Amino acid sequence: MLLYIHVPFCRTRCRYCAFHSVPLGKGVDAASSPQVRDYIDTLMLELAHWGDRYSGMSVHSVFFGGGTPSLLPPRIIGVLLDRLSRIFTLESKAEISLEANPESLRGGRAVPAYLAAGVNRLSIGIQSLDDSMLRMLGRPHRVQDSLHTVFAARESGCANISMDLIWGLPGQGVRQWLQNLKDAVRMGPDHISAYGLTLEEGTLLELDCREGRLSLPPERDQNIMFMEGAAFLESQGYLHYEISSFARMGYQCRHNLGYWEGMDYLGLGPSATSTMQGRRWTNPAGQQAWAARVHEGTLGQEAEELTPEVRVLELVMLRLRTARGLRLKTYRQMTGRDFLRDHQRLIHALHENGLIRIREGYLRLTRSGMLVSNSILSNLFERTEAVLRQPLPEGTGCRRTLQDTGPEIRPVRWPSA
Ligand code: SF4
Repeated sequence: MLLYIHVPFCRTRCRYCAFHSVPLGKGVDAASSPQVRDYIDTLMLELAHWGDRYSGMSVHSVFFGGGTPSLLPPRIIGVLLDRLSRIFTLESKAEISLEANPESLRGGRAVPAYLAAGVNRLSIGIQSLDDSMLRMLGRPHRVQDSLHTVFAARESGCANISMDLIWGLPGQGVRQWLQNLKDAVRMGPDHISAYGLTLEEGTLLELDCREGRLSLPPERDQNIMFMEGAAFLESQGYLHYEISSFARMGYQCRHNLGYWEGMDYLGLGPSATSTMQGRRWTNPAGQQAWAARVHEGTLGQEAEELTPEVRVLELVMLRLRTARGLRLKTYRQMTGRDFLRDHQRLIHALHENGLIRIREGYLRLTRSGMLVSNSILSNLFERTEAVLRQPLPEGTGCRRTLQDTGPEIRPVRWPSA
């Protein structure tokens, strides 16, 4: 299984962020904050709670996400890893990821201590290599901090470094974005997550755009940013293995691959979602409400059973995000239906327009298809949902039904930026 630990604290609030996080404020030492101490105590109780049920289960990866997990001192991360390794069985090559921001890693000086605590992958929230963009986003770090952090992480022996970057920012031009990517590649990361900006309703950045103080790049420029950016990264040896994810060979994020491949995952901390043995639940988002559930021992009691239909829909949605694509045989085994026949006209149109490819039993989006993946996936979602309500066509010769199938796929909690 996969373990996700949500750390809901940030230094300040970024202007584009709609995630649930608590700003601690500049200069506040997280280790001495009563709120952080309560959080750690509750997390320990939550671990013990799930330890009673899932003790000994094999853990494929641990992901500290947030928020800004690197606000927790390395000593605390070490204690948490030690505790969970006593409860579960950490695989020998388990990926232990920590989401980190340059300012909280203190220009990289904190990295050796995190590595010593057991972290073996850093996912660093660089976001932009342009100071004016960082200011506009309300990020508390500057480009120099990012450069020092990545350099120091490498010097300290961190063998797996990922960078988060955002394209399609207000005022960003195509050349500027491509220059960002070139600068990023020069820093030598093993993995790059390049997200298109989503303007989340209610954020300060969305307000600026809505009231005309800022504006997003024209759609045509955004398309070029995605297409040329992806082509550039591939030319530099990064596999484009998921819509927003690029990695050197062997450095694909094992945690996210696990989500996309349908592994069980246990989420700890406020707002974390879990999917275990066909049941799904989400912890309350507020720290007090979450703590109350932990103390009552009622976590997961309102879990929903995943229906076979939900599993199939998630299979389609998640696998089509990946470069590998949807294995048509898996869909047939789960549903007794033929995906290509179910969506004959749409598949034909997408193929004609170069948005999908079918090869060796897999259906996948092309890069142009990935560019418009939201529209393709939502279309396929609705159609698949409708198709699954219909009786099997005559003469399929398949005796398997939806009810026969076991757990198959779980949804992803997308990493925070
Ligand atoms: S974008 Fe990340 S660092 Fe910024 S407030 Fe949101 S969770 Fe915190």
